[in-house]
Amino acid sequence: MHHANPRARRRFDLDRRHLLTATRAGCGCCAPPMLGGGSGKNPLQTAAKQDGENLRLTDFKPRSMLHVPVTRVEKPAFPVIDVHTHLSWMSETRNGVSLGEAMTYFADPAELVALMDRKGIRAMVNLTGGTGKGLAESIARFDAVAPGRFRTMTEPSFALFAEPDYPRLQAEAIEQAHSIGAAGLKLLKTLGLYLREGIDQGELVSVDDARFDPMWETCAARKMPVFIHTSDPEAFFLPGDSANERYEELAKHPDWSFYGPEYPSHRDLLAARDRVIARHPNTTFVLMHVGNQAEDLAAIAACMDRHPNVHVDISARISELGRQPRMARRFFERYQDRILFGTDAVPPPYGNDVPQQLLGDELYEIYYRFLETEDEYFDYAPSAVPPQGRWSIYGVGLPQDILRKLYHDNAARLLGMP
Ligand SMILES: [Zn+2]
Repeated sequence: MHHANPRARRRFDLDRRHLLTATRAGCGCCAPPMLGGGSGKNPLQTAAKQDGENLRLTDFKPRSMLHVPVTRVEKPAFPVIDVHTHLSWMSETRNGVSLGEAMTYFADPAELVALMDRKGIRAMVNLTGGTGKGLAESIARFDAVAPGRFRTMTEPSFALFAEPDYPRLQAEAIEQAHSIGAAGLKLLKTLGLYLREGIDQGELVSVDDARFDPMWETCAARKMPVFIHTSDPEAFFLPGDSANERYEELAKHPDWSFYGPEYPSHRDLLAARDRVIARHPNTTFVLMHVGNQAEDLAAIAACMDRHPNVHVDISARISELGRQPRMARRFFERYQDRILFGTDAVPPPYGNDVPQQLLGDELYEIYYRFLETEDEYFDYAPSAVPPQGRWSIYGVGLPQDILRKLYHDNAARLLGMP
């Protein structure tokens, strides 16, 4: 690096602006060595602070020293439909498989509507609305209380999976759900990672198992979009060691690791998903979390090019999109008619464990800032330590016409909300 000595420079150049520039260019790395300096000694080598390297990772909470514009976006440019929230879920779970009709509710519609009005949210889609009586209860509790503000999805009846006529029973359950107002079908990552031949024991059931074909076809016939979560982030399929960029997240949630021979690979899970999509071209599939390929936008783009019946949502993945803002912006531009706004919001106290999904004003403001501004290097979650990996994100500054589709129009079209 070349550094001008300001005093020497003055002799040649008395222009004040140049002088200031030169002075400011001085930096510590070129300071004369304070220690050492003896013959043959590396002058940059200093004795490290004792215990300086023993700070625990969990105690390391650095604050960025960047002085860059901070834009607060309290309201979105257009009304929002959040297609990915969890306001309830099925109470009984066995080995990762949700069963039965009993529901747990953890959000109060009146409080939600107040938040929605503050944050410019027209409607929330509650994906985990349950089945049978539980579904009817969820719809009564949300959709019916605040008409137009909530839409509820049904879920598979995996409790019936061991029945010999499961394919027919499942298709009938979807018909029934449609008749009482379910807006679509939601699948958690259960399929591919938890559901087994004996429901919670035995061999894992493949995502493209033919026994689900009547379910996918019923959704097509009833124009119910299928919101499907397949696989998980790539890092969850790798060893949770010091090379894993999501080390802290996996340490906090060890049950999110699918590393090992007992699980299919990330690639195999997605290949099975893509075979289902190809086999049911009349069914609309919304792939949750950018299809769990937000780390590989070229791959999800190829999937969307091959299958016109595919949409994606961005929920819980602004962390990935926002660390590759140029590539992400091109992705938003190219697929602007097939990307949906979603957050994966979970109300407190459940949401406290997953800050990137913690329902509240702050979560929405972060999403709006990411989509609408060109702010640089900011937190993707309301949390002192970035929960999905230690990095920060950059806004993609989308134009108004794309924002309108992403926030609202694409979801309104899929859900039949004029
Ligand atoms: Zn979710």
